[in-house]
Amino acid sequence: MEYDVVIIGAGPGGYVAAIRAAQLGLKTACVEKDPKLGGTCLNVGCIPSKSLLHSSELYHQILHGAGDHGIDAKPTLDFSKMMARKKGVVERFNRGIEMLFQKNSVTKIIGEARFKDANTIEVNGEEIKAKNFVIATGSEPTPLPFLPFDEKQILSSTGALALNEVPKKMVVIGAGVIGVELGSVYARLGTEVEFVEFLDRVCPPLDKTLSKEFQKILEKQGLTFRLSTKVVDAKIEGDVTLTFENKETVTAEKVLVCIGRKPFTTNLNLEALNIETNRGMISINGRFQTSIPNIYAIGDVVDGPMLAHKASEEGVAVAEIIAGENPHLNYLAIPSVVYTFPEVAAVGFTEEELKDKKIKYKVGGFPLKANSRAVAIGEEEGVVKLLADDATGMLLGMHIIAPHAGELIHEGALAIEKRATVFDIANCSHAHPTLAEAIKEAALSIVKKAIHI
Ligand code: FAD
Ligand code: NAD
Repeated sequence: MEYDVVIIGAGPGGYVAAIRAAQLGLKTACVEKDPKLGGTCLNVGCIPSKSLLHSSELYHQILHGAGDHGIDAKPTLDFSKMMARKKGVVERFNRGIEMLFQKNSVTKIIGEARFKDANTIEVNGEEIKAKNFVIATGSEPTPLPFLPFDEKQILSSTGALALNEVPKKMVVIGAGVIGVELGSVYARLGTEVEFVEFLDRVCPPLDKTLSKEFQKILEKQGLTFRLSTKVVDAKIEGDVTLTFENKETVTAEKVLVCIGRKPFTTNLNLEALNIETNRGMISINGRFQTSIPNIYAIGDVVDGPMLAHKASEEGVAVAEIIAGENPHLNYLAIPSVVYTFPEVAAVGFTEEELKDKKIKYKVGGFPLKANSRAVAIGEEEGVVKLLADDATGMLLGMHIIAPHAGELIHEGALAIEKRATVFDIANCSHAHPTLAEAIKEAALSIVKKAIHI
């Protein structure tokens, strides 16, 4: 039997591609090496981390935040129950994807895929033939060369999501997205968390002014940062002692290494087919085709931000391309969110990117402490920053630190997708009192009509 398309990997790229392909009438199979569908995102990424972020935030708020509201309570922490809840959330969606596959007639094949030729893969010793393949095999954590993961003391994000108890001290190497999210989880539960970051700022892709503001907020929460610091050696003698280039040392029970992820193509046998890669990423053209035209690649295994929704958008687009359609995907309108408290969200260009591109722009901003809803809920740390084209006012970037910034940012994503201007945002009525009014006020500040600042 020959499939129209076989998708390799059932993460948010692969499973979405499979469903869309089947919906378009293509005879579709999805091969996944893990018995549980959903990939990194569902099993050891987005979903378990957000479950723990919310649970730990609740605990922390009751412990430290509720007193200001006149509520005195002393919570007790049942960490194993918190972890069990997280597992339940993941399993619910594992079953959900299974059901979606059944409903859409996607054939699920559990096993590791290995290419034999451009139309054949081998899985569990059997050959599977297809007119087209989509590689959606994702990514894996990058270890430090002298500090391999043992998932007991030297943790990747996967190990940090599966601890049995809350550690006393954790050093986080890499103050990127995983670091600040999982570092926040454990700091809220009582761990002393110290970051070691190679660069001079936290979450380097963020707009620089927001990165600085974000760091200050995290420091107020008790997180500490050693920026511009390189770990050069590590010794495990009971605890782990890290040595930095300046010869200083730090000792901790656990070390979380989150210095980025790398594309995962192990055992696919890409070399035999001469499928081109670039620094480990599979090279593709604008239609997701690899150097072999009937073999496509999407998601973390190709260039671009390693985000679940980016992988899914590519999954839909590649299925539509294989089915003969001409989909459109605007990468500039893909938002990114850091799910700390407050959240940090961005879409479009940063100020530094506009300077590099020599695009003339205007900046508008609004601090949360002048937003009535933020003050009413007692969460007034944060800011909205908008970047607009100098000549036309077209929105070029939206950057937010705020509670629920990950929800608010979609106003910016839609504006960028539809090429809306800051005049459009300023003219649009925003309900009062909402955090979203800070976006309107930031737009009003660019069009010189600010009311509340
Ligand atoms: P993956 O999800 O990695 O899926 C690839 C799948 O392919 C895996 O299931 C793997 O088992 C399978 N596979 C690999 N090789 C083979 C083979 N040869 N044969 C068969 N199967 C194979 N992104 C967000 O947008 N929001 C978040 O909040 C977020 N949080 C994250 C938190 C953490 C801790 C981590 C680690 C990541 C997070 N991400 C988040 C990133 C997100 O998980 C990835 O961008 C996303 O999972 C990429 O999807 P993908 O389909 O490309 O690959
Ligand atoms: P990252 O790229 O976000 O951050 C890695 C950090 O480590 C950077 O700040 C980098 O400067 C630093 N670093 C690199 N080498 C170092 C070294 N030797 N010593 C000290 N610091 C070093 O990577 P990550 O946090 O590992 O996350 C991986 C990917 O997963 C990201 O690309 C992200 O897109 C995705 N992710 C997304 C979310 C989300 O969307 N909320 C959450 C988690 C992960």
